Amino acid sequence: MGILTQLNTLPEKLLSCQPDEIHKVLSGPTLIHLEGQRKAPILISTLLHGNEPTGFWALQQVLRPYFVTDAVLPRSVSILIGNPKAAQKNVRSLPGELDLNRVWDKGDSEWHDMAQGVVHEMKARKIFASVDIHNNTGQNPYYACLNKVTGKNYKLCRIFSDLILFFDQPLGVLSKAFSKVCPSIILEAGVPQDPAGIQKVRHYLETILRIDELEENGIESTDLAYHVIAMVRLKEGVKLGFGDGPNSKVDLCLDDELESHNFQVIPSGTCIGWHKGSNDKLEVTDNEGKLINGKYFDFSHGQVRLKHALIPIMITHDIPVIQQDCLCYLVSPFDVSSRLSPK
Ligand SMILES: [Zn+2]
Repeated sequence: MGILTQLNTLPEKLLSCQPDEIHKVLSGPTLIHLEGQRKAPILISTLLHGNEPTGFWALQQVLRPYFVTDAVLPRSVSILIGNPKAAQKNVRSLPGELDLNRVWDKGDSEWHDMAQGVVHEMKARKIFASVDIHNNTGQNPYYACLNKVTGKNYKLCRIFSDLILFFDQPLGVLSKAFSKVCPSIILEAGVPQDPAGIQKVRHYLETILRIDELEENGIESTDLAYHVIAMVRLKEGVKLGFGDGPNSKVDLCLDDELESHNFQVIPSGTCIGWHKGSNDKLEVTDNEGKLINGKYFDFSHGQVRLKHALIPIMITHDIPVIQQDCLCYLVSPFDVSSRLSPK
């Protein structure tokens, strides 16, 4: 199985070490199987991105009491610690390395082999559910994601948050691979430094470890989730800043307050920034990758105004992240009962 290590006991040091010390205990991606009363295991995955430690902190808190008292877990768990070396450096992945949450599809790198090994092993163990835990760069409320709209996935999400996001792209994420096998979701637990996020994930894990069966039925017509309708990128070469008014030192200055509106409706006509010149500074693409500049943002009179009411998510103020990835996604709510997959 190449770079993947599997263990059947929990190395005690993992219960007390810091994320940047895990590499002293685990040399690479490691799947740790712990037996519980109900045999079908939950896969709990964390640190696929080395700078997103909330899941690891929460797991320490969940497991410690069982370890100290020798009590048996209510359900078997398989813990995937994704990237100890990236966690040591507190980076998403090491330079030159693949993104570990993009390798869960076809491919021939050693990381793809690792991913296929995990899926194969968990199938053989008759996996009950999969929960992959991440952090956001910007201030977002806690939310859960699913890649397949099923009653079970929705319920697993709802235990964590009322805010639920469906996404189909990018390919190669762990949750999507496991959606083909079992109920499978993602937790987005706020920024990495948020202690309340750790407590929320801890409480969530304690709850789902005690679930006997997940019911398929019971979705109400009022149950909503969000789906992505567009991605907003910064146009190449545009110098970006944040502030509360026009700023001649940058090409585009976005409102400081923008980050606090993640998952909130921003009314049509709202000014969200100021810019120099007359041309658009943002590049907007729909889910098919088609450019739809001009659909949502009006760049006239030196201001950036919304042409429609919009719900942004994942807005961050981290300019390098915006340059590498995107400024935000735009989402819209949909009725879950109308989109249920058969299984
Ligand atoms: Zn992540």
